Amino acid sequence: MTIISGRCLCGVVRYEISGPLGSADHCHCSMCRRQHGAAFSTYVDVRPEDFRWSDGKSQVKVYEVDSGAGWCFCRVCGSSLAGSENGEITSVTLGTLHGEVDIKPACHIFVGSKASWYPITDDLPQHNERAGAGKQQWQD
Ligand SMILES: [Zn+2]
Ligand SMILES: [Zn+2]
Repeated sequence: MTIISGRCLCGVVRYEISGPLGSADHCHCSMCRRQHGAAFSTYVDVRPEDFRWSDGKSQVKVYEVDSGAGWCFCRVCGSSLAGSENGEITSVTLGTLHGEVDIKPACHIFVGSKASWYPITDDLPQHNERAGAGKQQWQD
């Protein structure tokens, strides 16, 4: 199994994924928009047991909301690196992965919260909430 890696903008924080990547989607929820300062965020699911901070873990800050959802970012440069659920890493941001990764986002989620100034112009399915939550299919 090849190790997939990623890092933040400043390079202080690095991570590795030692298993398969799950599905990826573009999240238009208002929390992701604010956290990323962008029209939407793009995350790919990972299994918590496959993920590890390989460098700079002490510089990772987690902003967690009441639901248990967390946004993990570098304290130094602010890069959004990963998503967590109740303290476990369950996804990483596609934009911080290193090199070529064979994955394509499958859909747009939380489009009900979409920024009015951003038109979705691709043909991917659009969901008002999270699609297929808890039904992740893992292929080893
Ligand atoms: Zn950084
Ligand atoms: Zn979101």
